[in-house]
Amino acid sequence: MGVPKHKVAKTKSRMRKSNSYYKVKPLAMSTCPNCGSLKLPHRVCPECGYYKGRQILTRVVQGE
Ligand SMILES: [Zn+2]
Repeated sequence: MGVPKHKVAKTKSRMRKSNSYYKVKPLAMSTCPNCGSLKLPHRVCPECGYYKGRQILTRVVQGE
């Protein structure tokens, strides 16, 4: 619940904001259904280039 702003001392609100209030969440990861590697959710898999069951990126074959 919110507290009326005039009731909260400046130091109190500043102390609260200083710890864990605006901390960045750890990066969420999901696994690719195609190759099973970790990838960002709602992004094309960087390993195999699949998203939503179809190939979007084509891997550049090196050394050929
Ligand atoms: Zn993949």
